[in-house]
Amino acid sequence: MQNIQCPFCHHAVIDWSEEQYVQPCAHTLFIAMDLGFEYISDEFESTMQRTVDDIHADDENSNVFNEISKSSYPEFSVYKSDLGVEGMYRYLGFAN
Ligand SMILES: [Zn+2]
Repeated sequence: MQNIQCPFCHHAVIDWSEEQYVQPCAHTLFIAMDLGFEYISDEFESTMQRTVDDIHADDENSNVFNEISKSSYPEFSVYKSDLGVEGMYRYLGFAN
């Protein structure tokens, strides 16, 4: 499993040496997998059409990447990381 760094401050936002491996920095908008969100900033969540609780409650019909795409947040980059399981990814969003 690879650590994943923020492209701006190079903080390891996924750090496998930590017990809590999700370590968001100030640029991190969200960290999600196809199965659900691991982290989301309040600011980013407020720009989505549905809340994370709604998305998780309706997980059979929810597609995390679609939900991210429908955000009205002005400028952000999404990085896609292979989870090592076919067709499953982790998505990391950073403010531009
Ligand atoms: Zn950062």
